[in-house]
Amino acid sequence: MSPAPATVPCQYRTGKTLGSGTYAVVKEAIHIKTGDYYACKVINKKLMEGREFMVRNEIAVLKRISSGHRNIVTLHDYFETTHNLYLCFDLCTGGELFDRICAKGNYYEGDAADLVRTIMATVKYIHDCGIVHRDLKPENLLFKTSAEDADIMIADFGLSRVMEEQKLNLLTEICGTPGYMAPEIFKKTGHSKPVDIWAMGVITYFLLAGYTPFDRDTPHQEMEAIISGNYKFEPEEYWANVSDTAKDFVRECLTIDPGSRPTAEEMLKHKWLDSDTPHFVPDP
Ligand code: ADP
Ligand code: MG
Repeated sequence: MSPAPATVPCQYRTGKTLGSGTYAVVKEAIHIKTGDYYACKVINKKLMEGREFMVRNEIAVLKRISSGHRNIVTLHDYFETTHNLYLCFDLCTGGELFDRICAKGNYYEGDAADLVRTIMATVKYIHDCGIVHRDLKPENLLFKTSAEDADIMIADFGLSRVMEEQKLNLLTEICGTPGYMAPEIFKKTGHSKPVDIWAMGVITYFLLAGYTPFDRDTPHQEMEAIISGNYKFEPEEYWANVSDTAKDFVRECLTIDPGSRPTAEEMLKHKWLDSDTPHFVPDP
């Protein structure tokens, strides 16, 4: 006899695993009554012990913003059992941006600019709502469908924070994914919205080259490279087809001093994202 299918409290039946991150497993979930598919983030309460506030925070942030923007994953439902917490999202069937970059090697500049423009505009919306995401990276950017021109969606608000407007309210805990973390996070001098712009610089670099700028042999060397902004547009063969305007966009996002780093609104006005500027198209 085959085992009974796993059920998510009363209404859903779980299917295949879609992905997993730091604290959660995300499974496909079918709403039994309607047959509709969702993505269900299953969080083990024991693993999260003492950090349940992170999930409550994720829910609070999503409730505040997720229905207001077409490029943010929508929280559809939320429930819990003795052992688990469940966040049920609209399903993105197109996979992670990370996998698309790996499959392609890298993006053509014009396609990269289109994606970055959409993501940056969504980051501006998030910041305007008083929220800092703090974990922007290609694993947390999902395509809504498998179509080549599918909408890109910002996911995983597990590390996000609501920021009060006063400048004094800076965050100091070390968190995020090392390769995408801004220098001020390591320096513990306080951080806020500018960390998301730094991460956008790393993501843009990755889109254009197919590798990340601060990859080093050890975590310590990686941190030192980030703190001193030590990266290059090299090896040359990976950058030969990339315009100076694109490189300038990356450079501005990767401004070491968070106080001088441009905002999402300013980066949206950068020449590289200006849709009238023709992008370098390599010879076939
Ligand atoms: P964690 O906080 O553990 O990193 P995420 O929210 O990032 O959890 O989810 C982990 C992974 O699950 C994502 O990187 C992605 O591959 C997959 N995933 C998350 N949400 C969805 C969704 N709405 N649709 C499809 N896959 C998803
Ligand atoms: Mg994640």
